[in-house]
This record gives sequence, structure tokens and C-alpha cells, in this order.
Amino acid sequence: MADLLSAQRIAASSHPIGQQVAVEVVAETGSTNADLLARLESLTSAVLLVAETQTAGRGRAGRAWHSAPGAALTFSLAWKFSRPLKALTGLPLAVGVAIAETLSRFDVDARLKWPNDVLRNGNKLAGILIETASVKNAAHDGIWAVIGIGLNIALPDSIAARIGRPIADMPALQMDRNVLMAALLDGLSEVLVQFDAAGFGAFAARWNRLHAYAGQPVAILDRGHVLHEGKAIGVDDSGRLLLETVSGRVAIMAGDVSLRVVEG
Ligand code: ATP
Repeated sequence: MADLLSAQRIAASSHPIGQQVAVEVVAETGSTNADLLARLESLTSAVLLVAETQTAGRGRAGRAWHSAPGAALTFSLAWKFSRPLKALTGLPLAVGVAIAETLSRFDVDARLKWPNDVLRNGNKLAGILIETASVKNAAHDGIWAVIGIGLNIALPDSIAARIGRPIADMPALQMDRNVLMAALLDGLSEVLVQFDAAGFGAFAARWNRLHAYAGQPVAILDRGHVLHEGKAIGVDDSGRLLLETVSGRVAIMAGDVSLRVVEG
């Protein structure tokens, strides 16, 4: 049985930057994102909520995120930003950089798929769902983001089968999940502080170094319809995907479009 998650052990394993964040662990909840969004008005500083079991994990556009107790990390981080809402568009990409760079410290070769997935060997290892809210109350007015992350560690076959498409995990990573969670909290905190100060421009080169599909033919889909096809170049300073198409270079905003690799 994997080590149980504990708020004390996560806090004790993190560095000073991560220790600024209040850590909470619950045995079970529907969605850590939904829980933190419901509490935003009463938060005074950043909170990390980790669930041992998440029964109604969410992806983008109402899609489901699956996990199993002891087999994954499912958590959300509520963070207050001083930049305006429109300046948060590159945030999911910066969060991907934080996750992939942290995993590389444990010899996991994770790559990024635009806009919001972390891949290993071409399949999804982690999903990122960011929900934002403008909180208006006298004490802590401001823009908050709830950053939800599901990271597969060693998913049982039954869960993988339910997802219905190949997934990635990292069963060889024999480490206490509390220590991994603390490292992710440190990595995310560093990235979020830098993002708030300097925006996505500070991360574009780091994202491009981790790009899973650099130079490869891809299609951009909107609810199943192909919007663009071309060679994926990388992202620009605002997190738009640059695509080399037959009619020239286009820059694509994230919105709710999806990227698929085009088999040559
Ligand atoms: P797209 O591939 O179209 O970009 P998406 O990346 O936006 O989709 P998300 O909303 O990020 O999708 O994640 C939800 C999707 O991830 C689900 O529809 C399912 O296919 C897949 N999924 C759910 N749970 C897991 C998991 N534990 N590991 C890997 N993939 C999962």
C-alpha cells in the first residue's frame, strides 16, 4: 500500500517557498477544484487541497478525470494574482512547465502538449484544469485561480480501461507521495510567483524546450472539426501555439480547442 498523504508530511518536506502555502489533505471529495472555488471568498492566502480519493474529478469542458486511491496525486492550489484576468491566459502552460521540470528532477521525462497536458511516452500523464474567479470583498479583493492537477502514478488497469484511451503513469517511481507532492508544491509556487511578476513571456523558452510535438504535423480541432492543420513550431510570448500552415504562419489561442497529432 502506498504511503498515505498527510498535510504535515507534505509541509515538512517542502522548501520555504512552498511552506507559504497552507496544506490540507482530505480522504475523499468530489472535486478539489470545486471545493476551493466554493471557499475562495473566505481565503486569505494560498491553499493546497489534496484528496486521497477524488470521486468526480473534472477536466476541461465537463470531461471527467479518473483516479484511484494511492495510485495518483489529485490536488488543487488556490492562488491570488495581482495581474488582471486577461493576463492569465498563459497560466496553464506555465503550470505544465512547473510539473514537467519538477518530474525531471526524479528522472521522469515528461513533455508538454499544448495547451494543458503533460505527456510521458506520448500519452497523458497529468491533466491541468484552471478555473479563475474575481473575488470582491473588502479584505482580499482580487483575481484568484484554482489550479487543479491530476497526476497518474500507478493507475490500476481497471481505471486505465475506463478512460478508453492510452494513458501514461510512472510505476517505477518508488517514492513517498508526500515528498513528490511537496516538490510539486515548491515548483508550482516558484513558477506562480514568477508568472505573477513577469507573465508567460518568462516561460516561453522553457515550454518550448519541453514541447512534445515540435516540428511535427498536427491538427487543431474544435469539437471534432479541424480548424487548422500544419507543423507545430512552439509557443509565443503569450502562450499561443505557432503553426506553419500551407497559407503561412498562424498563432492559435487556447480557448477550448484540442490538438491531435497527424500521422504522416
Ligand atoms: P484534449 O485531448 O482534447 O486536449 P483535454 O486534454 O482538454 O482533451 P482534459 O479536459 O485536459 O482533456 O482531460 C480530460 C480527458 O482526459 C478525459 O476526457 C479523458 O479522456 C482523459 N483522462 C481522464 N482521466 C485520465 C487519467 N487519469 N489519465 C489520463 N487521461 C485521463
